[in-house]
Amino acid sequence: MAMANAKAADGWVAGIRSIFLDADGTILDFDEAERRALVRVLASLGLEPTEGRMAAYHAVNRDLWRRFEAGTLDKGVLQATRFLRYLDAIGVPVPEADEGPRLNARYLEWLAESPLILPGADLFCRRLASRYPLYLATNGISRTQRLRLERSGLSVHFRGVVVSEDAGAPKPHGDFFRHALDRAGVEEPGTVLMVGDMLETDIRGGAAAGLRTAWFNPGGHPVPDGVRVDLVFRSLPDLPDRLGVP
Ligand SMILES: [Mg+2]
Repeated sequence: MAMANAKAADGWVAGIRSIFLDADGTILDFDEAERRALVRVLASLGLEPTEGRMAAYHAVNRDLWRRFEAGTLDKGVLQATRFLRYLDAIGVPVPEADEGPRLNARYLEWLAESPLILPGADLFCRRLASRYPLYLATNGISRTQRLRLERSGLSVHFRGVVVSEDAGAPKPHGDFFRHALDRAGVEEPGTVLMVGDMLETDIRGGAAAGLRTAWFNPGGHPVPDGVRVDLVFRSLPDLPDRLGVP
């Protein structure tokens, strides 16, 4: 790195006072936790976890979350109807109307039981927490996310937890970040580094709220035009390395 860039980078790093960390896909392995919970839901219905059935769930769920994040679907409705829509999509008759909420509750219980952490996440959090107050900043259901963090063993590294359900809005909405800054007692958003794996929610949302951003990009994808991201890292140890944290 050229000297001018190194100096600029040092100044940039020195301005960071705290870190907001995304959970799923950054330190927690949501995909695997979700897969295991879904396998158990299907088993409870006497169904094999075929690839088609697993894929159908993701399609239904993604559609519902997209509508929730766009503000056109209520969280309660999402939770109450998610499994009804899913059973319908895979051609399984629903025995009773309240089976949807019941299946969803069971699914969330099982999801919370699988706090699988991504490789290297413990050391990653430990290193960052040795220099910065760390706050978890995650979308999702408050009780589920808090239980997962608790059971992951990573909660000791965090000063606080902010879940979209408590914030009243999910990332990338400004309300989420305002709530998180408030919870962390931060007055100047530019002193916070938002770290996460999702360009749309973590990076675009964080930047729009005035935070600095670091994109966890293990796939090495190019940064799309029009997205402002301050730092891109491909493996977890890269970030503390580049922040100069031992
Ligand atoms: Mg994520």
